[in-house]
Amino acid sequence: MTAHERPHIVWHEGELTRAARFAALKTNGATLWFTGLSASGKSTIAALLERVLVERGVHCYRLDGDNIRHGLNSDLGFSAADRAENIRRVGEVATMFAESGTLALASFISPYAADRDACRRLHERAGLPFFEIFVDAPLAVCERRDPKGMYSKARAGELQGFTGVDDPYEAPVSPELVLATAECSVEQCVQGCLELLRARGLVT
Ligand code: ADP
Repeated sequence: MTAHERPHIVWHEGELTRAARFAALKTNGATLWFTGLSASGKSTIAALLERVLVERGVHCYRLDGDNIRHGLNSDLGFSAADRAENIRRVGEVATMFAESGTLALASFISPYAADRDACRRLHERAGLPFFEIFVDAPLAVCERRDPKGMYSKARAGELQGFTGVDDPYEAPVSPELVLATAECSVEQCVQGCLELLRARGLVT
């Protein structure tokens, strides 16, 4: 049952508008959603981007797939339903970060287009910017990198339902940014993100 079907659960309005919050705190809120195969480079790029932004005084915070599964989403596995719930919860959390005036840097494989689209709609309904960033590296490159040995395990049959091996990855159709990590350095990818943020007026 959703909150909409429970009339006794009533939304409690705050005492200040988003514009007043952002102006008083001199900040902006938005979500940068990094999606791509395992080892495509999502976490590496988000981590450097976070450091660069914080050093410039920009409020931002990483929501990293593996980290979130240690806590908030430790009850979820990798079935299609659990993957959808994983992304649904993170979409909600990212919206709250954005609403608070933070740039949420969400790095999740998020293989299903419908789940990512639901996160986008959630932000659109709230009037908050959402940028889908496709961290694009060929499967062969990701397998060669294999920083956590996951592809070897999946190929050896020790891991089932691994994205790109025996589970699908639905590439974004119209992302705001594509980062070709097999051709560009981590620094160049971070520059690409900064240019997007500058173009959208979210950083100077
Ligand atoms: P993901 O978060 O997508 O699973 P990781 O960031 O954990 O991927 O791992 C990506 C690996 O690829 C790291 O070992 C990183 O050093 C390497 N790499 C090489 N080129 C790039 C690039 N341009 N951007 C990001 N990572 C890169």
